[in-house]
Amino acid sequence: MEQAQGSVLSSLVDIIFPPVCPLCEVALRKEEFCSACTQRFASLRITGTVCTVCGIPFASGAGPEHTCARCIRSPMPFTRARSAFVYDSAVLEALHAFKYDGRMALAAPLGRMAASAAPAGEPPEIVVPVPLHRKRLAERGFNQSLLMARRVAEDLGARLDYSNLARTRETLSQVGLREKERRKNVKGAFALRDPSVFSGRTVLLVDDVLTTGATMEECAGVLEEAGARVSAVTLARAVRI
Ligand SMILES: [Zn+2]
Ligand SMILES: [Zn+2]
Repeated sequence: MEQAQGSVLSSLVDIIFPPVCPLCEVALRKEEFCSACTQRFASLRITGTVCTVCGIPFASGAGPEHTCARCIRSPMPFTRARSAFVYDSAVLEALHAFKYDGRMALAAPLGRMAASAAPAGEPPEIVVPVPLHRKRLAERGFNQSLLMARRVAEDLGARLDYSNLARTRETLSQVGLREKERRKNVKGAFALRDPSVFSGRTVLLVDDVLTTGATMEECAGVLEEAGARVSAVTLARAVRI
């Protein structure tokens, strides 16, 4: 009965607010994105061979999995990082619409797509979003990584913890900074309120975009120090193509 009422209510809502594609706003029936946007997303999926550690796609896209030169040179404080998409076109537009225009309808589908890219193997017990500094949070009104992480935790059956990892110092936007500057910018910028929560736990860090990985490494380092085994997932990955 309750279900019947629920479906009547949702059909009513659909009549008053017809569903639209959260990215381009064309009318939809049941699907999450319109077919044009779905195709644009699909063309950006990272599907070929990637670095076993950091998940960067190899240019050839074929051959056996191996570790990239950078991960061999300087080992990462996480076991594995993976991303769903190359950060370009539809994915870039979707993240901009979500982060800067506050189009909240994108939070769930983008979170679900990030969850689908989570590294296989050891399932995470705790999902942790990369935090914003409270000043940035006050400006934007929401943390895009937390909204996506909520969906990731739900899909993976893990506990969401968004109050322990904190950005303790304001950092510059990483946009436009070189790799070395990015590292310096985020060095020592994160801390755990209660490190004991993470001791012996498997933790999945969630962020929107991975560029040089400096932010992710810094967060992972803090969690690893607390005794966690850390892996990471982002919706997108900046790749020179
Ligand atoms: Zn669309
Ligand atoms: Zn690598």
